[in-house]
Amino acid sequence: MGIAAAFAGFGARLLAQPAAIDVVIIGAGGAGLTAALELQAAGLRALVLEARDRIGGRAFTDTSLGIPWDRGCSWLHAAAVNPWVAYARQHDFELIEDRYPRHIHDGARRMSDAETAGLRAVRERIERELAAAGRRGLDIPAEAALTQATLADPWYPMAAAGMTAWEGIEPANYSTLDSYQFIERGGDLLIPRGYGALLAHYARDIEVRLRTPVTRIRWDRSGVRVESPAGAASARLAIVALPASVIAAGAVIFAPHLPVEVLQAHHDLPLGLMNKVALRFKRNVFPSERTEFLWQRRDDGRGMGYLTRLWDSNVCVGMSAGRFAQELEAAGEAAAIEHALGELTDMLGGDLRRHFDRGSATAWASDPWSRGSYSHCLPGRFGARALLTRPVGGRIVFAGEHTEQSAYGTLHGAHLSGLRAAREARRLLQESST
Ligand SMILES: Cc1cc2nc3c(=O)[nH]c(=O)nc-3n(C[C@H](O)[C@H](O)[C@H](O)COP(=O)(O)OP(=O)(O)OC[C@H]3O[C@@H](n4cnc5c(N)ncnc54)[C@H](O)[C@@H]3O)c2cc1C
Repeated sequence: MGIAAAFAGFGARLLAQPAAIDVVIIGAGGAGLTAALELQAAGLRALVLEARDRIGGRAFTDTSLGIPWDRGCSWLHAAAVNPWVAYARQHDFELIEDRYPRHIHDGARRMSDAETAGLRAVRERIERELAAAGRRGLDIPAEAALTQATLADPWYPMAAAGMTAWEGIEPANYSTLDSYQFIERGGDLLIPRGYGALLAHYARDIEVRLRTPVTRIRWDRSGVRVESPAGAASARLAIVALPASVIAAGAVIFAPHLPVEVLQAHHDLPLGLMNKVALRFKRNVFPSERTEFLWQRRDDGRGMGYLTRLWDSNVCVGMSAGRFAQELEAAGEAAAIEHALGELTDMLGGDLRRHFDRGSATAWASDPWSRGSYSHCLPGRFGARALLTRPVGGRIVFAGEHTEQSAYGTLHGAHLSGLRAAREARRLLQESST
């Protein structure tokens, strides 16, 4: 007796669905949407179930402040190998090279290039030391791969804050070997209409069942049945395109349970934290008409980086990461806005607050559908991403940025994982019908 028959009539009512579904896709982020489009193009019947009332997951462009700003991903990283670059160009989405000037402030004083040369030097040294450890296959904390001279450098805390922003967690807590696998070629691009808007354009013809949080996935050799308060659905197999932290938290129950090493791999790839605060001013309060990246010099990791004059508007986006972002998120949206306003006033002086209009802050850690911003690999756990590219029981295929070794933590990684999952699903379906 197959799973569909065994549980026919179990629990929730059936979701209204076309006669027979080949693949049920859980999660309508970059990974799930890519898999859906690929399967549809191959003539397969895919059903996408999404917990939120919108698609995109961690790729979401907010327009409530009058201009588009991305609450999640915004940079097209690794432009030379990022498939979204070609997609954007084909569909007339303008792309901008991120060559914005970076400025560090020491209190209210803007530091000169000569004064910040030490930061550039220590960054280069860190890159060399991490690459050397990566080449040796050292699956140790990134910080443990650095020399005492680097750790003692007066600019190290600022450099470490940059590393924390990249991984969403302090360098003591992620694997050197894992981060060494990331392919970073071609620099970063920005997209004025929004990275979330680009994904929404890509997914415009995909039908998604919104407000359908999956709570249980039953599977056996004959197929899968997924359950949610909105109803249940059966299919020949499932692509699970959920953030690793959602599965590690036990938000979805697998029956039978996942093999222990598969569950462990989700725990080994937790999502670190990056949050954003967007501030809208009534006029330009910044030192330049042009966009700049501003950063306060501090050694305690409690600073934010600010992209000013977003798309030539009076909106500025501040970013916090790691432990400090956790703290700020726990303090609430008003406190995050207040912190950003205070720090900007310290840097720029003047009556900045008087011209403040309104703001908005993200809270990705407490968002139940993401539980963090992007994945990192715990030291000693290298291999977890590769393990999740293997299907379970011929019926469950995982997708999501956390499964993509060379592009983890990104929207292009999510896309690549969706392509891989769709290929795998087709192979399994072919195998099971022969
Ligand atoms: C603040 C921030 C900044 C970032 N900056 C960048 C950047 O500049 N460049 C870059 O490339 N990447 C960046 N990223 C990372 C990038 O956004 C993600 O890697 C990517 O969007 C992840 O896609 P995904 O499909 O793997 O997961 P998600 O987008 O998280 O998709 C998973 C989907 O599953 C849904 N879901 C969860 N639980 C359930 C359930 N029980 N049932 C049904 N559905 C469920 C979620 O709602 C979500 O829609 C950033 C992320 C954040 C948060």
